[in-house]
Amino acid sequence: MKSKFFLTAFLSVSLIACAQETPKVKHKVKNTKSKSATQPVKFANATDPICDMKTEPDMKHTLVYKNKTYGFCSAYCKDEFKKNPEKYVQK
Ligand SMILES: [Zn+2]
Repeated sequence: MKSKFFLTAFLSVSLIACAQETPKVKHKVKNTKSKSATQPVKFANATDPICDMKTEPDMKHTLVYKNKTYGFCSAYCKDEFKKNPEKYVQK
């Protein structure tokens, strides 16, 4: 029976194709930063560049600039930094 042979052949081929089509794509695990994380934020700046105050890990006024997190004592200092970040970043 030729037709049966072809059917079997077709089935096995499609099975192989199916196996090859198994997705190998790994779902990227998003780094969702939970606020309950115990790890303290490390600021790029040891001191507030505006007022020279020491930065604390629990500072609420933070700004990410060029993939670095900067901490500020107040919204005012953050705004001042935002106006001219290069001035304060360059050392
Ligand atoms: Zn400040």
